[in-house]
Amino acid sequence: MINFQYARAVDVADAVSQMAADPAAKFIAGGTNLIDLMKEQVERPSRLIDISRLPLKAVEETADGGVRIGALVPNSDLAYHPLIEQRYPLLASAILAGASQQLRNMASAGGNLLQRTRCYYFYDTATPCNKREPGSGCSAINGLNRMHAILGTSEACIATHPSDMCVALAALEAKVHVSGPSGARMIAFADFHRLPDNAPQLDTNLNRNEIVTAIELPARGFAANYTYLKIRDRLSYAFALVSIAAALELDKGTINEARLALGGVAHKPWRDPAAEAALRGQPAGEAAFRQAADLVLRDARGYAHNAFKIDLARRGIVRALTQAARGAPQSQSNKKIA
Ligand SMILES: Cc1cc2nc3c(=O)[nH]c(=O)nc-3n(C[C@H](O)[C@H](O)[C@H](O)COP(=O)(O)OP(=O)(O)OC[C@H]3O[C@@H](n4cnc5c(N)ncnc54)[C@H](O)[C@@H]3O)c2cc1C
Ligand code: SF4
Repeated sequence: MINFQYARAVDVADAVSQMAADPAAKFIAGGTNLIDLMKEQVERPSRLIDISRLPLKAVEETADGGVRIGALVPNSDLAYHPLIEQRYPLLASAILAGASQQLRNMASAGGNLLQRTRCYYFYDTATPCNKREPGSGCSAINGLNRMHAILGTSEACIATHPSDMCVALAALEAKVHVSGPSGARMIAFADFHRLPDNAPQLDTNLNRNEIVTAIELPARGFAANYTYLKIRDRLSYAFALVSIAAALELDKGTINEARLALGGVAHKPWRDPAAEAALRGQPAGEAAFRQAADLVLRDARGYAHNAFKIDLARRGIVRALTQAARGAPQSQSNKKIA
């Protein structure tokens, strides 16, 4: 047992100043990821700053027709919120494809963004891992890498970001509101998570002393034609091997607007502007969907155990776009559990 201090933040400014005062402190929200990491001694904070009671639990409409989600809204409340169910069902589906009902009741929206990779070596402190201990090496590149990335990898790290919710947020072009010692700022979702490059210890572009306060969705929700397709080893309670958030706006069968984001394939939710651009103006059909899939995967690289993901992703993209175009999202998981 490694001792640590515990303090509750009274407001956002207090949370930020407590964090700035202790370089080894960590925020704790639902604790569903951080506590596991502390038990494995992967995270060893000197102090936990409990932000779970801060008033960041509202889901509200914004002046420009979007929705602002407080960072402490539990995943379950968010998925079942009427504004999200009706206007952003892609987000509701993605959230409900993740974890379990009990975990979703505890997990916060902000914590979901900041959850860490599920690479087995990251959790195993007896093995080298550049993300856990920079410069120590990557055990996955020549080790077991079935769940690892096929896009955007580096020689330093081939881990994936494990979130489902973030894949939908990437497709919906969310923005992340953060507060720090020098004030508040907004980060486009595409810029929030990082590729590993030569600094895989950094998952995001959030500065150390900053706290996530909210996530903002633009008005465009793609509620008519969307799908979140999650392919995994078990039907529930498993992280994605590959997941696809697909959203279309159609006009008499022609694609006016397209969004496509993948999970389980990279260090961040993977969006490809070239593939989306290629879909625009095309008839919504297999030819266009196959072309988009080929574009997304043009630079994919498989390792010893995960090369199957390239073909899985290709077929998954075509299936997800087909379901989205039909207005028939495959997932039944957004039905409320009695
Ligand atoms: C068994 C299991 C299965 C799971 N399966 C899935 C799955 O299939 N799909 C999926 O998407 N997720 C899955 N999860 C992950 C789960 O969604 C995350 O653990 C959860 O979202 C984290 O939220 P939290 O509030 O509990 O974060 P915490 O554990 O409290 O914190 C996680 C990290 O975020 C930081 N943090 C938290 N809030 C903020 C904030 N507002 N600002 C700045 N930093 C912050 C903390 O300091 C910490 O580093 C699973 C988890 C478990 C344990
Ligand atoms: S893939 Fe990344 S997280 Fe996994 S062992 Fe390599 S450096 Fe560590």
